[in-house]
Amino acid sequence: MSEERKPLPLGEKLKNFANFSWDLLNYINENGVDSLMVSDKVYTERYKICEGCEHFLKRRQECLECGCSVPQKARVILDSCPVGKWSAHKESWADQLEKISEELDKKKETN
Ligand code: SF4
Repeated sequence: MSEERKPLPLGEKLKNFANFSWDLLNYINENGVDSLMVSDKVYTERYKICEGCEHFLKRRQECLECGCSVPQKARVILDSCPVGKWSAHKESWADQLEKISEELDKKKETN
């Protein structure tokens, strides 16, 4: 019977997390904020909700609740509607994170 492996010490876990966070921030810095944006499909869904909302000021494309520009706000993965009509898009972030992780792994392999 094999000996059960011990979990990594907390300090080691934090170091790994810090390294990954650093790589992630560098990736975003190098590749622009597009990596923090939702797909066209999610954007359109969000925008349609805003278009039908009583707080949407169409002529300025602005949300009267938060004052944000809706075309910009609806693009950001982590943004959400201030009255709960749409929320941050965790699935988009999970997809982006997977893509970024793969690219970071490839980059490490070639270095
Ligand atoms: S973000 Fe929310 S409150 Fe603002 S316009 Fe869109 S749906 Fe309405």
